[in-house]
Amino acid sequence: MPELSHRIGRISVSATAAMVNEAARLRAAGRDLVDFGAGEPDFPTPAHILESAIAALHAGDTKYTPTGGTEELKRAICQSHARDFRSDYQPNEVLATLGGKHALFNAMSVLVNHGDEVIIPAPYWVSFYDQVRYLGGAPVLVPTDEADGYALPVAAIERALTPRTKVILINSPANPSGAVYTAAAFQAVLEICRRRGLWLVSDECYIRLVYEQAPYSVACEPGSKSCLVISGSLSKTFAMTGWRLGYALGPAPVIAAMLSLQSHSTSNATSFVQKAGAAALLGPQAPINAMLDEYRRRRDLIVAGLRAITGITCALPGGAFYAYPNISGLLGKGRAATAAEFADRLLHQAGIVTVPGEAFGSQGHIRFSYATSREVIREGLSRLAQFTAAA
Ligand code: PLP
Repeated sequence: MPELSHRIGRISVSATAAMVNEAARLRAAGRDLVDFGAGEPDFPTPAHILESAIAALHAGDTKYTPTGGTEELKRAICQSHARDFRSDYQPNEVLATLGGKHALFNAMSVLVNHGDEVIIPAPYWVSFYDQVRYLGGAPVLVPTDEADGYALPVAAIERALTPRTKVILINSPANPSGAVYTAAAFQAVLEICRRRGLWLVSDECYIRLVYEQAPYSVACEPGSKSCLVISGSLSKTFAMTGWRLGYALGPAPVIAAMLSLQSHSTSNATSFVQKAGAAALLGPQAPINAMLDEYRRRRDLIVAGLRAITGITCALPGGAFYAYPNISGLLGKGRAATAAEFADRLLHQAGIVTVPGEAFGSQGHIRFSYATSREVIREGLSRLAQFTAAA
């Protein structure tokens, strides 16, 4: 077989996907698993969003749309972002994409040159690292500190800057830590980007899933627009992971460049999904608040349960739906040597699906997605307690 591109050799299948696949294999073989693996809401998409897509299909909304999205959807994105976060975007500063991952990929593709450095706080979401590598950039990982709740490490970011730095890529609430960065930290990083002529890329995938604070976007800061690119997603907020709808917000020339790329790759997001997306963004928001209340109860349940197990400590996640406990007290001395090995044993011996911290660039941790019922969480905690007592 002739050889593949060098580019594709720089990345591998996402470790989260690998865990999900192994769990699917075991389940198909009849194993009873407790699944904390996938970062996907267990709630159904709210009914009014479904109805909107169905009506759009019946109305014949089945053709190509403009590549960057319908005017209706782009206006809905601007309007809802302004309503929720006091931003000020116009339709020529918006691109509708096939999920947040796609928005991020298009953005990084038009911002990152070969050899450019991209600063990423760690632990990081898997695709940040691999997208930069695929594009020929160099991810520069800046560790966050568990002891201060994985706060945005502004001073360390400043120290990591070099003449080759091009982008600072941040994500709040963060996957996998659940950390929510303060407005002051965002302002400080924005100021660095302005001063040094860098791009700030802010992944707002979980922006409305915050438990203690009001949702915040750095787009509300005066003068932020000129160096800021936002990638947003409807996947988690509206329980729409399978619909594949996201967006980017940024300066018009960046959006035009992303549009050009998208015009030669995916073209538009699915026509009737765009209709449903506008309904999600501008329609009743009560179902979102109900989901958020339930996620909060689940967070409190799982964090308390994890903390009750000897050898485990767990920072309180302020947002998203992940707990990221430190399990280093359960490693070594004849037991699993690494979190990856621990997660593997947990899967095969206790039937608990998690994702090891190695996937996110950190050691001694495993990620639990608590986007699952409280009943499942209780069962998982009970199995985990038995497993750790026996190990
Ligand atoms: N960004 C982060 C931090 C995520 O965790 C995810 C999904 O897990 C995404 C973006 C992408 O989500 P989607 O492509 O479904 O919008």
